[in-house]
Amino acid sequence: MPSTAARYPTALPGATPLLRWSRRVADTQPIGRRTTVIGLDLGGSSIKAGLFANENSAPVRNLVMPTPAHEGRESLLGALIAAVGALCPDGLSDVGAIGIGTPGLIDDSGVIHGPAVNLSAWQGTSLSGEVTERLGVPCVAGNDGSFAALAEARARDVDNLLFVSWGTGIGGGIVCGGRLVTGHLGMAGEIGHVCVDPAGPVCGCGQRGCLERFAGAPELVGAYHARGGAGDVSSFPGLALRYRVGDPVAKAVMEAAAVMIARVVGAAMSLLAPGTVVIGGGVAEAIPELPGMVARALTRCSFPYLFEQCRVEPSRLGNHAGMTGAAETARDLSGRRA
Ligand SMILES: [Zn+2]
Repeated sequence: MPSTAARYPTALPGATPLLRWSRRVADTQPIGRRTTVIGLDLGGSSIKAGLFANENSAPVRNLVMPTPAHEGRESLLGALIAAVGALCPDGLSDVGAIGIGTPGLIDDSGVIHGPAVNLSAWQGTSLSGEVTERLGVPCVAGNDGSFAALAEARARDVDNLLFVSWGTGIGGGIVCGGRLVTGHLGMAGEIGHVCVDPAGPVCGCGQRGCLERFAGAPELVGAYHARGGAGDVSSFPGLALRYRVGDPVAKAVMEAAAVMIARVVGAAMSLLAPGTVVIGGGVAEAIPELPGMVARALTRCSFPYLFEQCRVEPSRLGNHAGMTGAAETARDLSGRRA
């Protein structure tokens, strides 16, 4: 059997390095006459899917369905195809392209590398290539944090933006000069795996002391109990509730986490000069004060003039950011293809 690279060897002329077509089917489709695109956000617990008709706008139809995270690659692929089918019950004749955002490392051929919570069965293979082959519609895949960054940048019409996805894990994405920065093997923007304490706990990535091991949602729950929190808190929503009712331990945990996030964001600001920093993800959605807390902490750990010239904001797209960015990327490539 030929390798994935041999089956999907070529890049669309003019495409960004991250995003290449699986041309095997794309070459046979009249893509330019199709007017809609689909964005899929493949998360550890749910698949968010949206059908988009116009640029920079909300989906005309969207849905959320569970991710069969532990049932193997065929089940996962089947769920993605089912999501597309539910969005387009009358068929895909009007769909120009599909974008898929996922956690983990996805290179410029759409091939998945390294450990990913719900994609371990896909390592070394092309998710986008498989979907293209099954559905007959060109598909691109990329990191979910990167796609969310692109969507947040376009929602603001800005060219330089750093996105932090603060949830169970901590991810992110970088837009510089109006372009998504994905780096070698698609690994850029992994802000959760910046080491903040070389003697800290071992992370799933193999490094010690990653930011994620201190400020990810499960770690925040652990910190609440380690600080003697008295509330019945077994998960992050419980901690967020304690925060909202004024539990001082919950507040201290979140303040400390905001400082930790700010230290890494401050370093990233010096390297990237983003102009806009967006603090999104499930943790930030649950506690709307967090972007402001991060901004206050940044006054003590960032290049002062850069900070003065930078806006720190909550997400505008919320949990639609990933699928919106995936759809925007699909539309970009569909347009170039036309
Ligand atoms: Zn790590």
